[in-house]
Amino acid sequence: MKLREDDEELLLALLNSAPVERGRTLELLDGEPGARLAARFGGTGSDRERDRLRRMRGALHDLIREAPGAAPGLEALLVDAALVPEVTPAGFRWRLEAPEHEALAARAAFAWAETVERAPGRLRACANEECNLFLLDRSRPGTARWCSMATCGNRMKVRKHASRKQEA
Ligand SMILES: [Zn+2]
Repeated sequence: MKLREDDEELLLALLNSAPVERGRTLELLDGEPGARLAARFGGTGSDRERDRLRRMRGALHDLIREAPGAAPGLEALLVDAALVPEVTPAGFRWRLEAPEHEALAARAAFAWAETVERAPGRLRACANEECNLFLLDRSRPGTARWCSMATCGNRMKVRKHASRKQEA
């Protein structure tokens, strides 16, 4: 269910807001950067909103990684959210109703559902296990594995090459 044009952007920004750099997780939802991220997508940037976003991010990571218990975890974050139809000559337009601090996180969840329904299997975690980024594979064959070819793609290639050399 697309609620706003930038839903997909919101989803990816949220999923990728805890990148790992040199083995340490950076929390991009904290402080000023977190408030800016929320504001970019129409949020207030309040502490409660960012706390909710963090929990939603965890639930979505679990779902995409197919962790056990992921579905009830997401459902629990959506109990106070509802989609209300507004009738227009072109059909329904869906309005999200949720407590103010939960709305942005809920919108990300609906964007996740919209994305996996429209493009099954295309939203995935980067194949580099030390990376905590996610990608939406828009390539025609659907074989993209890395968040970015320039970083993880190359790093993994170099590593493969090195281990092959070691074996030889
Ligand atoms: Zn990566």
